[in-house]
Amino acid sequence: MSRFWNERLQQLTPYVPGEQPQMTNLVKLNTNEHPFGPGEAVTQAIREAADERLRLYPDPDATRLRQAIADWFGLEASRVFPANGSDEVLAFIFQGLFRPGEPVLFPDISYSFYPVYCGLYGLESRTVALDEQLRIPVEAFQPPNGGVIFPNPNAPTGRFLDLESVERILVANPDRVVVIDEAYVDFGGESAARLIPDHPNLLVTQTLSKSRSLAGLRVGYALGQQHLIEGLERIKNSFNSYTLDRLAQAGAIAAFRDEAGFRAGQQAVIEQRERLNAGLEALGFEVVPSRANFVFCRHPAVSGAELAAQLRERHIIVRHFDKPRIEQYLRVTIGTGEEMTALLTALDDIL
Ligand code: PMP
Repeated sequence: MSRFWNERLQQLTPYVPGEQPQMTNLVKLNTNEHPFGPGEAVTQAIREAADERLRLYPDPDATRLRQAIADWFGLEASRVFPANGSDEVLAFIFQGLFRPGEPVLFPDISYSFYPVYCGLYGLESRTVALDEQLRIPVEAFQPPNGGVIFPNPNAPTGRFLDLESVERILVANPDRVVVIDEAYVDFGGESAARLIPDHPNLLVTQTLSKSRSLAGLRVGYALGQQHLIEGLERIKNSFNSYTLDRLAQAGAIAAFRDEAGFRAGQQAVIEQRERLNAGLEALGFEVVPSRANFVFCRHPAVSGAELAAQLRERHIIVRHFDKPRIEQYLRVTIGTGEEMTALLTALDDIL
């Protein structure tokens, strides 16, 4: 703290990201990255972009990337907004599209960046309690509010809300932006992108950090009607008009062209998730049904904190949240088959 910090800075509680240990002998299942690297075509495209053109600023509109994303979704390029990770897209949404003076609504168990952005941009917030089964209560998202946001599938629960329910929330809040944060949608959820033509208040955000194995490249995007995309552009251009660097644009374009690699990675994660579910249940865990690349689970006999600590002693890192209502749980990222075997073996040993 310094007397030179303004009041808002003094009151901020920054987001604490999951640990990124640099050791390689760890089974790292704590930050929902993909277990496999991007395909050769992607790394090759990044290498090819690393030449003398780096002296030039990148395309400020990321035109070719926008088109690649638009083609993937069958949308017009004017409905796509790329940025440095979906965290940056979210920052722009909180900054310019949500309304101060009325609370932004999001679930009480959800992505912990949402309250941080509210603090940063001076927005009020109100949380909506998940039900007993950790499901999102659709009817609770009602006006008045300054905007609505939730991940689908939700994080860290992994639960997916069907699109009919998403549409009910869109219809109930016609005058506010409703953001569906689809960071994990490619592992068995269904994107709300197809609702965009009918809903001028819908923004969908996605990322290349999870299903496309590119967390290190920092690329995400929003999809929505043109008037919302133009709003995001206005914020971006008031902040840093060049957005994505050359290497990120090149790698992200290649990722959208590598459909076979994407599908194979998606399938591998889903298979391991189902295997892990069965293994955890056999060990007595209660596992929340997940459509994401992680599972949320608890054991009736041993606390989440204790399990996380004991796994760490065995060089396996999972996520434990020291928060009311979910402190009993562990969030485990889906890894390779060998990593899942190592985890189940370690848990069997601990229990
Ligand atoms: N939304 C949710 C729900 C997330 O869990 C994450 C990843 N921590 C993000 C958004 C941000 O992902 P990125 O900035 O890597 O695109």
